[in-house]
Amino acid sequence: DGFDVASPRRTRDIIDKYGFSFKKSLGQNFLIDQNILHKIVSAAGLDETKGALEIGPGIGALTQQLAQHAGRVTAVEIDNRLIPILRDVLAGQDNVHIEHGDILKLDLGDLIKRQFAGLSGVSVVANLPYYVTTPILMKLLEEKLPLEHIVVMIQKEVAERMAAKPGGKEYGSLSVAVQYYCEPELVCIVPHTVFIPQPNVDSAVIKLTVRKRPPVDVADENHFFRTVQGSFAQRRKTLYNNLTALVGKENRDRLAPLLESCGIDPTRRGETLSLEEFARLSRALLEAGM
Ligand code: SAM
Repeated sequence: DGFDVASPRRTRDIIDKYGFSFKKSLGQNFLIDQNILHKIVSAAGLDETKGALEIGPGIGALTQQLAQHAGRVTAVEIDNRLIPILRDVLAGQDNVHIEHGDILKLDLGDLIKRQFAGLSGVSVVANLPYYVTTPILMKLLEEKLPLEHIVVMIQKEVAERMAAKPGGKEYGSLSVAVQYYCEPELVCIVPHTVFIPQPNVDSAVIKLTVRKRPPVDVADENHFFRTVQGSFAQRRKTLYNNLTALVGKENRDRLAPLLESCGIDPTRRGETLSLEEFARLSRALLEAGM
């Protein structure tokens, strides 16, 4: 219990010592369970040739473990009150760089280049602030950063949506976007009792292995994602009705035959379409000028 940050006693000691008060608005729930940390770190498949980018190190519970398993760690923390605490707690870990900033505003391509030059791969490993989980993950994916894995603790429901297969009610545009860029794998479910303070929801660790190339042939990514968004716009509506709203009434008459030509029944709902079907649909719409 003496050294590891992730224990109830040591976490409270650090918080008391620095007079730290949690900011709910920054999603500050600190991990106090060493076993969960080990699961996160081992899922990331790190070794001394790899870099780890941590988002939101808090008081350094995960950072400390990452420093012992990766060649180099860069941790980006938005809360300036935590910076001196982190420097103190992690003193002596000379492969750790603490960066004060908002992960959503940083140039991550540049940060990765500067911090991890010479290493054989970089992964994101984090216990994410839940209020910005989706924007953070979409930024990591859309910017096509050179990442191997993204291993993150997030809200359980969000993890389930990311890993969902077509046909279920969890499957939506987030599932399609995540699975377009990555192969998702649910690592474990985490009870809310392993945090200080405890969040209201259960959590899950998800491992996203970033694909080298997309799993489906998409002519135009913006159009593909627009088609996906449009197909899920109103979940109770059929694909035909949702897409009519997307392509406009003037194209309505061409829509049903176009769907049929893709082998997609217009009365289906968006939540039943696979990535392959969305890709086919987007290509056909694009070709038809819709
Ligand atoms: N890694 C620590 C742990 O596991 O105990 C803390 C995790 S806590 C759920 C999320 C952390 O992200 C907090 O330290 C919070 O201040 C930080 N944070 C919130 N929004 C952020 C942002 N936009 N950029 C960087 N860090 C952020």
